[in-house]
Amino acid sequence: MTKEVQEDMVVSLDYTLIVDDDEVESTQDGNPIQFIQGHGQIIPGLEEALSGMEVDSTKTIHVKSEDAYGESDPDARQKVKKEEFSEDVPLDVGTFLDLRDADDNVLSAQIVEKDEETVTLDFNHPLAGKDLVFEVTIADLRPATEEEIEHGHVHES
Ligand code: ZN
Repeated sequence: MTKEVQEDMVVSLDYTLIVDDDEVESTQDGNPIQFIQGHGQIIPGLEEALSGMEVDSTKTIHVKSEDAYGESDPDARQKVKKEEFSEDVPLDVGTFLDLRDADDNVLSAQIVEKDEETVTLDFNHPLAGKDLVFEVTIADLRPATEEEIEHGHVHES
């Protein structure tokens, strides 16, 4: 039986992510990511396109923003007074900050604007609103164990 990507298989995936013709992420150094197919562990558009691929096969996959990180939400921008930050935080446009909300969740935000007294934080995912291109190779495939499926993550073998 040919092994192919299908639900409950552990997929080892090499990929290069290209956005607006720039390479933004790559696993090329022999460290594929691992995930369980069919469990929403990767973006939906990518998971769907991988279905049926065999070990060592290669594909270029185009994923529209709505099947990736969604549209950029203008309401996810927030102005914050500079004095709210401790002095050692560099408040430069482009900087990513990890912030804690009232429930102690860590939220990542990028500074997208600043003026004399405030900075504007954007809580959208940096890839929100972007169409993504993945160049993928299936490095390995094996069935997930019952325990892995129960836990919802891959165990080191
Ligand atoms: Zn576990």
